[in-house]
Amino acid sequence: MKIGFVGLGNMGAPMAANLAAAGHEVTGFDTAAPPPEGVRAAASAAEAARGAEIVITMLPDGAILRRVAAEVLPAMAPGMVLLDCSTVDVDSARAVAAEAEAAGVLTVDAPVSGGVGGAQGGTLTFMAGGPVEAFDRVAPLLDVMGRKAVHCGLAGAGQSAKICNNMILGATMIVTCEAFALADKLGLDRQAMYDVVSTSSGQSWSMTSYCPAPGIGPQSPADNEYAPGFAAELMLKDLRLAQQAAESADADTPVGELAMRLYERFVESEGGTGKDFSAMLERLAARGRA
Ligand code: NAD
Repeated sequence: MKIGFVGLGNMGAPMAANLAAAGHEVTGFDTAAPPPEGVRAAASAAEAARGAEIVITMLPDGAILRRVAAEVLPAMAPGMVLLDCSTVDVDSARAVAAEAEAAGVLTVDAPVSGGVGGAQGGTLTFMAGGPVEAFDRVAPLLDVMGRKAVHCGLAGAGQSAKICNNMILGATMIVTCEAFALADKLGLDRQAMYDVVSTSSGQSWSMTSYCPAPGIGPQSPADNEYAPGFAAELMLKDLRLAQQAAESADADTPVGELAMRLYERFVESEGGTGKDFSAMLERLAARGRA
């Protein structure tokens, strides 16, 4: 397929490279990063989009996505598909879908889970929103870039699924870290707590697959001095998107809001920037109630 790819950063570059390696004809554009091997460089987003059957975007946020969509949509032929894999706010995903519809272009919002390792290895999970017809058209590309793709509903459903998942993840990580910090102060051995919780009703992915305590459970960023993994600032981005969506939809999400505030403090004034989001354990273990 002829593919235009806009946004060749940490995630976009390996995703575009995997598509090129699978035999697709990929033309890429980024305002700062050079194209990876196998990807032809375009001078603008519009040039990357011209003549493409599918245009993929992998950009930092919703405002940039809206700007790039305004550039690429006029260059796309009716009936083609705009596939956005960035994590953006639900309102921007829906606004871009509406603009595209007016131009006769189909859209799929398909944010990913799996991080840079998943992008490099082609093992990402995609959660997708958009018409079934558009999802079916991009499915062969999702198969190259990832291992699993779930069609979640109409425009914005992919972003909605992503932020709901990550709101649960942020909150469960914090409370899992809290439990380890409390166990320390109660004189309860961390390994003993892990052995109990990982097979009891308090278990979660944060405990059993990504344990925030070093030396316990499977290998995780905690065993590598909390080098990310999934950086605290990216978790903060997703928790903010969840609150933005909750406000827009008038949903009551008090724990999600508190999780956002805690990651805000952690990132902005408690040294969390550049650390994995599970480093919240160090912060909590170092503090008392005051
Ligand atoms: P990144 O900052 O490395 O890449 C974004 C790229 O977009 C940059 O190279 C930047 O130069 C480019 N860009 C910005 N404005 C542009 C424009 N107007 N035209 C063309 N290119 C432009 O970010 P990333 O880590 O690759 O993340 C991309 C998206 O994926 C984000 O929405 C992020 O939330 C999401 N995501 C990232 C991870 C991760 O672990 N890094 C995991 C899941 C989801």
